[in-house]
Amino acid sequence: MGRVFVVDLEGRSYRCKFCKTDLALADQIVSRQFQCRRGKAYLFHKAVNLMVGPNEERLMLSGNHTVADCFCCCCGQMVGWKYVAASETDQKYKEGKYVLERGRIVDGVVESSELYVGNYSLSTSDADDA
Ligand SMILES: [Zn+2]
Repeated sequence: MGRVFVVDLEGRSYRCKFCKTDLALADQIVSRQFQCRRGKAYLFHKAVNLMVGPNEERLMLSGNHTVADCFCCCCGQMVGWKYVAASETDQKYKEGKYVLERGRIVDGVVESSELYVGNYSLSTSDADDA
């Protein structure tokens, strides 16, 4: 696998739950009312650091859509999908936008406790006598 160029986002962001890569900015949220097969999801104007899979037709509650699954470019986990095209006129606003599953992203702000855990495990490794 080649090296992936990762975009760092300025401001409050949502990150990949699995590897903490920035995926989208909180102020890019269009809607928090989305629902996917696995639960809640957010619709974003723009998302970064994603690999977009092949287009596929998917019948959703709001009509037929052409969508493409999106994967985190760093860890390869599926994190959501992109709306490529919508067949219903009132769903056209979604075209080109991204849905990220709430259960697969984390709020970038709630980070300090995890950082602390990271530092702690680093200091205990000193006890290792070689
Ligand atoms: Zn990831």
